[in-house]
Amino acid sequence: MRRLAVFPALAAIAVGSLASLAQSAVRVDTSKPLTGFTAAGSATERSWEAKFQALPDSKRISDNMHLLAGHPHNVGSDAQRANAEWLVKQYKNWGWEAKIEQFDVLYPTPKVRQLELMGPKPYKARLMEPEVPEDPYTHDKSPAMPPYNIYAADGDVTAPLVYVNYGMKSDYEELDRNGVSVKGAIVISRYGGGWRGLKPKLAAMHGAVGCIIYSDPADDGYGAGETIPAGPMRPQWGVQRGSVADTTLYAGDPLTPGVASVPGAKRLAIADAKVIMPIPTIPISWGDAQPLLASLEGRTVPATWRGGLPMTYKFGPSVAKTHLKIESDWGTKPVLDVVATLKGSEEPDTWIVRGNHYDGWVNGADDPISGQSALLEEARGLGELAKQGWKPKRTLVYAAWDGEEPGLLGSTEWAEAHADELTKHGAVYINSDENGRGYFGASGSQSYELMVNDVAREMTDPETKASVWQRQKAAQTAGRGRGAGRPEGAANRETIEFGPAGSGSDYAGFIDHLGVASINIGFGGEDRGGTYHSAYDTPWHWDTFADKEQVYGKLFAQTAGTIVMRVADADVMPLNFTELSLTVKGYADNLKAEVKQLQTEAERRNRALKSGAYTLANDPKMPMQPPPALPVPPAMDFTALDAAMAKLDSAAKHYAAASAGAPALPAAKRMALNNGLATAERPLLSEEGLPGRPWVKHLLYAPGTYTGYGASTLPGVREAIEDGRFDEAKQQMVVLGNALTNEAAYIEKLASEIGVQ
Ligand SMILES: [Zn+2]
Repeated sequence: MRRLAVFPALAAIAVGSLASLAQSAVRVDTSKPLTGFTAAGSATERSWEAKFQALPDSKRISDNMHLLAGHPHNVGSDAQRANAEWLVKQYKNWGWEAKIEQFDVLYPTPKVRQLELMGPKPYKARLMEPEVPEDPYTHDKSPAMPPYNIYAADGDVTAPLVYVNYGMKSDYEELDRNGVSVKGAIVISRYGGGWRGLKPKLAAMHGAVGCIIYSDPADDGYGAGETIPAGPMRPQWGVQRGSVADTTLYAGDPLTPGVASVPGAKRLAIADAKVIMPIPTIPISWGDAQPLLASLEGRTVPATWRGGLPMTYKFGPSVAKTHLKIESDWGTKPVLDVVATLKGSEEPDTWIVRGNHYDGWVNGADDPISGQSALLEEARGLGELAKQGWKPKRTLVYAAWDGEEPGLLGSTEWAEAHADELTKHGAVYINSDENGRGYFGASGSQSYELMVNDVAREMTDPETKASVWQRQKAAQTAGRGRGAGRPEGAANRETIEFGPAGSGSDYAGFIDHLGVASINIGFGGEDRGGTYHSAYDTPWHWDTFADKEQVYGKLFAQTAGTIVMRVADADVMPLNFTELSLTVKGYADNLKAEVKQLQTEAERRNRALKSGAYTLANDPKMPMQPPPALPVPPAMDFTALDAAMAKLDSAAKHYAAASAGAPALPAAKRMALNNGLATAERPLLSEEGLPGRPWVKHLLYAPGTYTGYGASTLPGVREAIEDGRFDEAKQQMVVLGNALTNEAAYIEKLASEIGVQ
């Protein structure tokens, strides 16, 4: 379900200059042993990696996609069970142990969806996506989920309509200034600007009784490119489904936070599940939105609020009322995780978990089967390698997660079910979601950053023949590419950007809740499309507008498999803490700057309010309310945090210096060190969790409360400051400082265990 920042396709890209960059640049010095390996171990590893990289096959990836995305296969469907059983069979054929792990979760499905405009120009919304004659998959009559927002409350409301732009916090300030209230109204918001669940959440906080979310053609329809079937973008009746469960609080089954949804589990009453949205919410197409928007009266919206429809966008409220009725069957459905293992030869208790979800809202060819299809080729290759005699030192756990779309259900329930094992010896979780043509993106735990960079330097980008690393670095330099940016100094670092982990895909249960180091990887950014979470995300669309030849699917299987092999085979797992230390420093610098900026902004606004400037500047014929006064953040004391970071920095340097000799340690010492490395991120957890969300325990990154998918870094302190809770910010500063001090001590201990070589 992850929606990435996607940049416009490079039309006339300077392929020639990139290629010359590739030729001139030194690629990889293969005479140097790989990090974490002895010289002999490194040579053996390189030879196994070369054998592995020859195995993934594009045709098989394409076949996987056509099979898994051949029919609608949402949670609980017969097609999804058939997919699960097929996956188990494949893994077994490839020499893996494989099984289905089932969890029974709250999974509402719609019974009634009604939306109509009353008044002089009545309109009844279609709320469905018609077949596309050219796309045979859309003619499939097997059961599919109609467009709906899962985990929104039932309701039957009739009220005036108000347009709220993206429905984010700042949009409500604009509404207030224009004297428009959403109290008792139904809001209509366009998709974009932030995670979809924030729209009903903020609407309800402001007193709205219902929420409509539509796809504006400016964002992913005709404003962005030709529409289906002439081009890849969203057509008039295309709808984006999606979950509105508030996964910033906790992910997984809304009724079982913190524990697995297995028989006998303690479950909340539905009314007590805070992640469920309190107002009825429905996603619609722009075709259905247009008559509703046309009913709005009142002032014209500012330029940044305008979409791509040929009409004047107004705030509302409408005089004509809108009627919205949602009724769901609040039953339980099975979530079927397919989990396959390849046992490690030396440290079988240490787990390397690799996953991609396989449930789709409808066919889900791009999201998520493009990633899942490539992952399967990676797994087949590793199985084949094992048949040739390759033995990973550590246990590989490959997972096809079910129920990611509704709320990261399968991965979270599995992580909660195996929390004890994962806490003791879960070394890393490597996630992917959709994959496509373009740039390599990686984010997550910085302890694995250098290793991932090493692998990216060795893989070749098929379009330019530069290394995957150079291509991504070039994209960053040119302001393109995939993934979130690092706040400070990224351009000067000898690494490709490694953004923080937010939420929006299956790593949340691992990193946010359990502190298992996690990385999220994939290619993308070149093919654009407007099929996200619609019935038009089919293999036909993929083959017509995206990477039909699966060139990047194959590259992804090779890249991800190589990353897995490096962690699984190394004499000493290839972690490095200098990037962690640098990154935390970057986050802290960014936080300090933000405090200053908030102070300046608050002082400026409060001065302007006092002077009466807002009133005097008004157009008397169309006056605006002044904005509210802002709380001025007090000067924050960063001394303890700075001291903790200095300790972390020196520990990281000590470990980096000591670790060069580590691969040659005697076996017993190496194993003890590896056990320590596997759990190296655990000191960064807070036992109590973040304020107001005890399930989210990681102190470096969390899904942002008001950004949703986007990560908030140093979230305990940062969100308290942003929300004006300054005492809490001070308390959280202590919690963070202690955690970083503990992390530093932990790394220092690892370094001293290696000893002087
Ligand atoms: Zn997805």
